[in-house]
Amino acid sequence: MRRLYPLCALAMLSACSPDTSVPDSTNTLAELKPVQFNEARFRNDIKTLSSDEFEGRAPTTHGEKLTLDYLTKAFTDMGLKGAYQGSFLQPVPMVSYTADEAQQVTLAGLPFKYRQDLVLSSRHDNGGVNIENAPLVFVGYGVNAPEYAWNDYQDLDMKGKIAVILVNDPGFARPDSGKFNGKAMTYYGRWSYKFEEASRQGALGALIIHDTEPASYPWSVVENSWTGAQQDLVLSKAEQDSRIQVEGWLTLDTATQLFEKAGLSLPNLMARAADSSINLPLEQTASIVFKNKAEYANSYNVVATLTGSTQADEQILYTAHWDHIGKDETKEGDQIYNGAMDNASGTAGILEIARQLADNAKQGHGLARSVTFIATTGEEQGLLGSRYYAANPLYPIDKTVAVLNLDSTNIYGKTKDYTIIGKGKSELENYLIEAATQQNRVSMGEKILHQVVSSVQITSALPNWVSLRYLPVAVMKQLMTPLLPIKPRCKPR
Ligand SMILES: [Zn+2]
Repeated sequence: MRRLYPLCALAMLSACSPDTSVPDSTNTLAELKPVQFNEARFRNDIKTLSSDEFEGRAPTTHGEKLTLDYLTKAFTDMGLKGAYQGSFLQPVPMVSYTADEAQQVTLAGLPFKYRQDLVLSSRHDNGGVNIENAPLVFVGYGVNAPEYAWNDYQDLDMKGKIAVILVNDPGFARPDSGKFNGKAMTYYGRWSYKFEEASRQGALGALIIHDTEPASYPWSVVENSWTGAQQDLVLSKAEQDSRIQVEGWLTLDTATQLFEKAGLSLPNLMARAADSSINLPLEQTASIVFKNKAEYANSYNVVATLTGSTQADEQILYTAHWDHIGKDETKEGDQIYNGAMDNASGTAGILEIARQLADNAKQGHGLARSVTFIATTGEEQGLLGSRYYAANPLYPIDKTVAVLNLDSTNIYGKTKDYTIIGKGKSELENYLIEAATQQNRVSMGEKILHQVVSSVQITSALPNWVSLRYLPVAVMKQLMTPLLPIKPRCKPR
C-alpha cells in the first residue's frame, strides 16, 4: 500500500458468534515445545530478499521471479505443502496503468504542473482522460458514514463532477468530538475509501488535498507513489465501470490557489468540514487531458501449509507482503528501493516461524490446527494480494481463526514498548498483551498513530483485527511458541 510508515500488523479473523461452551482441543501451553529463533538464518533471509539482485521486488518483474523462487525453495525445504492446487503460487491477475507524464490540467482557469502541483491517474483501459469543464465540488472529507450521522455528499448529484476532498477524517482535526475514533484514522480517512466513495456517488473524478500532518507523509511520498505504473487487480466489468475516471492529489498550495480563485478560504472550509458534514460547489471547472496505458500480467501470492494434527480444517494464517516498490530508473545513482525493513523483514519473519513450527511438527510437537503462510503480493500498490486472497480464499474463511500479519519487524534494537494499531478491534490482542507483559513490555495502545493496519483488507469480510508496529523479535519468538494462538471464544460456523 502507499503507506508510508511500515506497520507490523497482527490480525484476527473471527466469523463466528460468541460461544464460550466450545470445547478447546488445541494445544495447551504445557504441551508446546519452545522453539529456538535462528537469528543468523533470519538475517540471511532479509539480506538476500533485499539485495540489489532482487531489484526491490516489484510485482511482475524479474525481482518477483527471484523472490518467488526463493520463497518456494524455502517452503519446499521445510516440507510444507503448496496450498494452491498443490502449488506454492496462487496467481493474482493484475493490470498496470501508466499515465503519460504530459498532462494538461487547468483548474479554475489556472494551469497546474504535473508532479510539482498535482498528480493524476486513471484506472481505466480506455486510452486516456479527456475531461472538459467538469464542475468542481468541495465535499469536505468525502465521507458518508451513517453511524456518525455524517454525509458530505448529502443532496448532491455528482454525475459529471469532480469531488475535491480533504485527507484523513474529521476525528484527526477534532479528536475530542467523539466521532471517527479521535486521532486514530478510521477507514473513512484512507485515500482508497475516498476514491471508492466518490465512485459510489457517481462522480467523474476525485482530487484529494494533500496536507503533511493529517496525511502523516510529505508530498514527495505522494509524488513517488502516484507517478509511473500503478498496479491494480483486474476487476469485473461492473466494478470497473463504476469507477471514477480520474483520481489524483493536489498539493496544499495548489488547493489554496484553487479555493482563492473561487473566492473561498481553504483554512476556513477545513475548519467547517471538521465540525460537520459539508459540501459546496466551487463554481469553477476542471479540464484534464492525458494519455493512459493498461498492461496485464499475473503476479503471485506464495502459499504454504503446515497441516495440523487434530483440527487440521481450522487455519491460522501468518501473512507478510513480499513485494516492495522496485526501482526507479529516472533516479541518479542508487535506483533500487531494497525494502529491507518493508517488508523483507516481515517475510523473513514468517519464514523463520514456519521453519520452527515445521521442525516441531517433525519432532511430534505439531500444532493441532493447520498453519498457512502467505507471502502476499502488491501490498505497496493497495493491498492487492491480500485483497485477492480475501476474495479468493484457499481455505474457508469461517474456518480461518486468526491472521497474524507481519509488516516489518523491529530493527531499532531493544525496546520495551510497542503499539497496537486499531486497539480494541480483536480479542486476539489480549493474547498479545499477555505475552508482551510477561516480557515486561508496555503497550502504547493509547497513543496510537493515525494509521491503519495493512491487513484491513484481508479482514474486511470479517472485521476483527489488531495490528502492531515494529514487532520486537522477542515478542515474535513468543508468538512462535505460540503462546498467543489461539483459543477462539466462539465457534466457527
Ligand atoms: Zn509494508
